[in-house]
Amino acid sequence: MSKPKIAIFEFTDCEGCEVEIVSLREKLLVLEKRVDIVNWRLGQENNQPGPYDVTIIEGTPITQDEVDRLKKLREESKVLIGLGACACLGGIPAIIDTKKRKEFYKKIYGEKYKPRGIDAMPLAAYVKVDFLIHGCPVNNQEVVRIISELLAGRTPQYRGYSVCFECKQAGNECRLLNKKPCLGPITQGGCNAVCISGGSPCYGCFGNREGAEVKNLLKILNKITDQKEIDRYFSMFLNRTKN
Ligand code: SF4
Ligand code: SF4
Ligand code: SF4
Repeated sequence: MSKPKIAIFEFTDCEGCEVEIVSLREKLLVLEKRVDIVNWRLGQENNQPGPYDVTIIEGTPITQDEVDRLKKLREESKVLIGLGACACLGGIPAIIDTKKRKEFYKKIYGEKYKPRGIDAMPLAAYVKVDFLIHGCPVNNQEVVRIISELLAGRTPQYRGYSVCFECKQAGNECRLLNKKPCLGPITQGGCNAVCISGGSPCYGCFGNREGAEVKNLLKILNKITDQKEIDRYFSMFLNRTKN
């Protein structure tokens, strides 16, 4: 029986999530015994055109040409997966203040430059996405888990808990209790609360968890800090998602 054909593509991003896949090392070789990675620009020289059984897409389109390419990949793929915050949420390319886009273009490229760029959006703004692997970067074990679930004929499930759950497991003191902002309560778990354990807040790179009580968190944040700071927190990863 032929093995499922997997393809990995990227649009605008830093490629950090693909590097996470590379860093699977021996586990990637084990995975390759069960699937054929038939197209992966970053990982191999010989690449095949579609159709594909599973297409994993990192990054997000920022030109109409890229949107068209994404739509073609969707047509060629049985299952399409978004890899990382840029694909799932708009991520780093979406941090730009779109109201100042024209001003930035003028400053950087001069008056004559004709911009082709469009606002970075999550992949789901353009095509049906079957599953999102969250994170900036993703947790590479999560990539293995999702592919293994698909190979077993199961529909992968999202983590049903917030970053706070893992933060408590890690034994961290809650930042909110110390009047420091944190988006952990509304953010999907899966990163083992790595930022908080390292002394930083959660900026929500795993996206909103299902049933996130955003309004309740905002009430707390409003008592801790000002609107400008709250906007800054939400603009890191969540400014293209509905809050
Ligand atoms: S999600 Fe983060 S690590 Fe992954 S491609 Fe985007 S910026 Fe890079
Ligand atoms: S520090 Fe953040 S992630 Fe940890 S428990 Fe408090 S709110 Fe949740
Ligand atoms: S703590 Fe928050 S910002 Fe940090 S990796 Fe986890 S979800 Fe992302």
